[in-house]
Amino acid sequence: MFVKKFGMCKNLQGLSLRNVSVKFLNIENKKTIYEDFGEMLFTHFGVSGPTILSASAHLLRTKNIESLLKDNKIKLLIDLKPALSEEKLDARILRDFEEQKNKQFKNALDNLLPKKIINEVIIKSNISPNKKVNEITKKERYNLIQALKKFDVTIKDFRDIDEAIITAGGIDIKEINSSTMESKLIKGLFFAGEVIDVDAYTGGFNLQIAYSTGYTAGMN
Ligand SMILES: Cc1cc2nc3c(=O)[nH]c(=O)nc-3n(C[C@H](O)[C@H](O)[C@H](O)COP(=O)(O)OP(=O)(O)OC[C@H]3O[C@@H](n4cnc5c(N)ncnc54)[C@H](O)[C@@H]3O)c2cc1C
Repeated sequence: MFVKKFGMCKNLQGLSLRNVSVKFLNIENKKTIYEDFGEMLFTHFGVSGPTILSASAHLLRTKNIESLLKDNKIKLLIDLKPALSEEKLDARILRDFEEQKNKQFKNALDNLLPKKIINEVIIKSNISPNKKVNEITKKERYNLIQALKKFDVTIKDFRDIDEAIITAGGIDIKEINSSTMESKLIKGLFFAGEVIDVDAYTGGFNLQIAYSTGYTAGMN
């Protein structure tokens, strides 16, 4: 998916995040469109990876998605520390800061985050990068926690169909005899794989659909 602040993702390009929570939000009606936990990555165009690909199927089925994207109403919130509640994360940050109290803020996040994302988290926290960590206030720590637990990215568009991995749409399954994969409308016409209107999350399910329906069609 393309993102709005292209420059930000360019800085993060190549960063792969594991064990993060992602939440896609329609900020117009404040509804969550999709939530997931797992892997994602920043690319030269925006965001990608398993959780993002799964989300794209849900986004595509969201009413008025094109105008929502155009109006910057679709946000991706990344929880960079999903295993820690805000309280536990605060305690962890306090501990880190205590151990490095004379360091500047920009040099005190190495234990908490991958190097590539530190600058962006600093920007989102609104804390001066040069501030000594022992001068950071409780309110500023709260801002930092929000930047870590709700790292926000505005989604602008989908990537082109040429890059699609799975296609939604195709021959309606109601028109197919599932025990033979033969068309109910045209005798002797069999279907398999992507041409059928089924799609699943990444993780092997689509290949399984192709193999199973291909085998069944072939045997019949
Ligand atoms: C980059 C990428 C990563 C993927 N990763 C996963 C994954 O991790 N897990 C998963 O489950 N799925 C994954 N998929 C999806 C999965 O590969 C497809 O769902 C599956 O291959 C579909 O099989 P198919 O036989 O229906 O179609 P295809 O594999 O697309 O096969 C169609 C074949 O038909 C040929 N063809 C097209 N037109 C004609 C014509 N006119 N005449 C003769 N031949 C023609 C094409 O050349 C092609 O060889 C991935 C897809 C991509 C692109």
